[in-house]
Amino acid sequence: MDRQPFVDQEACISCQLCVDTVPEVFRMNENNSAEVYNAFGASKIKIMEAIEGCPVSCIHWN
Ligand code: SF4
Repeated sequence: MDRQPFVDQEACISCQLCVDTVPEVFRMNENNSAEVYNAFGASKIKIMEAIEGCPVSCIHWN
């Protein structure tokens, strides 16, 4: 199985940058934290862009 991204929701500050960058993979949940809803919705390169853009570095690969 390929590696999948996930959001550390305790650390997420709800800036929505990842959702704006890769809406095919990330969305805001009912707690106003980002979550991964479709891990394979975009290329790894695109997901890396979101990971690198996250201001608190709370998106990781499992
Ligand atoms: S970019 Fe990081 S801090 Fe911002 S919403 Fe996404 S996971 Fe949360």
